[in-house]
Amino acid sequence: MNRLAYMPAQTLGTALQAGTDDGVMFLAGGTTVVDLLREGVFTPKALVGIESLPLRDIRVDGEWTTIGAMVSNSDVAWNPAIKAMFPVVSQAILAGASGQIRNMASTGGNLLQRTRCPYYRDLTSSCNKRSPGTGCAAIEGFNRGNAILGTSEKCIATHASDFAVSLVALDARVAVSGPGGDRDLAITDLHRMPGDTPERESNLKPGELIVAVKLPHAALTRRSLYLKVRDRHSYEFALASAAVAAEMRDGVYGEVRIALGGVGTVPWRARSAEGLLKGKAPGELVHQAAADEALRDAKPRRHNAFKVPLAKSTIVAALNQLAGVT
Ligand code: SF4
Repeated sequence: MNRLAYMPAQTLGTALQAGTDDGVMFLAGGTTVVDLLREGVFTPKALVGIESLPLRDIRVDGEWTTIGAMVSNSDVAWNPAIKAMFPVVSQAILAGASGQIRNMASTGGNLLQRTRCPYYRDLTSSCNKRSPGTGCAAIEGFNRGNAILGTSEKCIATHASDFAVSLVALDARVAVSGPGGDRDLAITDLHRMPGDTPERESNLKPGELIVAVKLPHAALTRRSLYLKVRDRHSYEFALASAAVAAEMRDGVYGEVRIALGGVGTVPWRARSAEGLLKGKAPGELVHQAAADEALRDAKPRRHNAFKVPLAKSTIVAALNQLAGVT
């Protein structure tokens, strides 16, 4: 067993100061980090506990709803304002994990959870994400759960978060604090596709901490939903999922948002498919065309080719449900 220090932080300043040391990791709800410590994937010299930081508010004001990074997933999902204004967010969270895990998992931690690629957690396997330069066991191995969009020759791991998919559909922003000060970035700029450096999963700088997620207010967010397909109905990751939101004008689509989970190396925004729907009346054929467009660049592997038609069907079903097409 590795020995490591634990340093609980009571203020953001203390946490950020402690987080600048090499070999230090932040610990929030612990639902990813503790597993990976036990399995020997993470070997930090110290953990900075951030669970007591005063980042537990959900605030609705002006043009934004702001969710503190330490608000639990359960508290976000069941918040009346979130349910009414952003149903896709509540549905996405409730479609993930279990009640017990949602009670512990934090808003910031959910976005930074690690892939469930089994080779990542198996220290005897080649894995460029865990040990850069060792290869990718999934490419020639069992890759049923792996990604078909945004992959590289170095890594085909799927991003695991349902919550992040809903945020991508809503054009959310992420507020961060770090040694260089405060900044915020678009949710689509938080996660990195693997490219040649799959070990770098986010665009956070060393020592930076997510302090809040910001949801912009817009008419279309109230007409939104999350549809997830998985091997069993609870406590399972997505094989394919779709977060959709739309504004209707005189019976045709105005602005439309489509984001996908379970198929991309990052929470996947299907912008070209969205553009195809604008100005069209909802219907099975037009939804099918948007789904075909969303998966046009898919690169399936030996065991996950089924995800292409599955993701298309998921998009069509989500859009049909959103628009009341029967
Ligand atoms: Fe590792 Fe990524 Fe390959 Fe999985 S897909 S084995 S996480 S490099």
